[in-house]
Amino acid sequence: MIILDRYAVFGDPIGHSKSPKIHQLFAEQTGQSLQYTAERVPAAQFATAANTFFTEGGKGLNCTIPLKELAWHYADHKTPRAQRSGAVNTLALQADGSVLGDNTDGIGLVTDLIHNHGITLKERSILILGAGGASRGIIEPILEQSPQRLVIANRTVDKAVELAQVFGHLGPISGCGFDDLLTQQFDLIINATSTSLSGELPPLPENLLAKNGYCYDLAYSNQSTTFVRWGLANNALKSLDGLGMLVEQAAAAFYIWRKVTPATQSVITLMNSQRGL
Ligand code: NDP
Repeated sequence: MIILDRYAVFGDPIGHSKSPKIHQLFAEQTGQSLQYTAERVPAAQFATAANTFFTEGGKGLNCTIPLKELAWHYADHKTPRAQRSGAVNTLALQADGSVLGDNTDGIGLVTDLIHNHGITLKERSILILGAGGASRGIIEPILEQSPQRLVIANRTVDKAVELAQVFGHLGPISGCGFDDLLTQQFDLIINATSTSLSGELPPLPENLLAKNGYCYDLAYSNQSTTFVRWGLANNALKSLDGLGMLVEQAAAAFYIWRKVTPATQSVITLMNSQRGL
């Protein structure tokens, strides 16, 4: 009997996860033999479930809401970008039995923006809405693209200010509340709050998006998200959701585990065709 290398995504809830399908497509495309499943793992059971998974021969895990911070603590050692982000979405068993933690969310977003959609970040004025786990993961890769400025706006203002302090040595970043956005304009607005999926939006002033600007919602859904619709209503050149980021972060995780880079465009096209937007 052939025993396949085992991978999984842990999260709670997890029923909606598209990750098993994406990794199955990557495996077929690259000729890799592996198994990838989605497991509902509540936060309180994360460490036990991860221990069992790796003890029983599992090779790698993705971790999603609400487990990324726990995964950061769980990892025996971390890549520098994961260390700074405070959140881990990819765990990889190493040859010596230790577990490496990485965060591929940011590279997933930047790859989708730049390579898939032709959106330049260099010298652009960029706004991130939200200061949760996803924001922490995307700030450093965005600053690496040398934007003119990066502003983090959050409902709980202190969290935005704290993030700006943590990443301040990497580039021109500041933190504020939504009220402080009244007289400002941005070339790219990224929604990293969790509001879209409950049909809400942060309070956004008119004229926040510059002419020929772009909007990107990290959330994705089978329908247009609230923020994607806000972008279209505010004349965004493109108003995108996070499906491309999901596929790109998965490709980066696949590379960490298998040392093979899958092609993403055909997978994004297929996943898009299945949701009929
Ligand atoms: P967190 O729970 O860590 O953070 C949630 C953020 O949303 C906080 O900044 C919070 O503000 C803000 N928020 C929540 N409710 C409101 C509200 N009613 N009004 C204004 N702000 C609000 O979530 P994550 O950072 O992990 O995830 C954020 C989103 O990104 C989710 O939709 C997730 O699905 C998506 N995501 C997508 C990925 C992809 O691959 N496409 C990858 C990772 C995440 P406060 O601090 O004040 O509570």
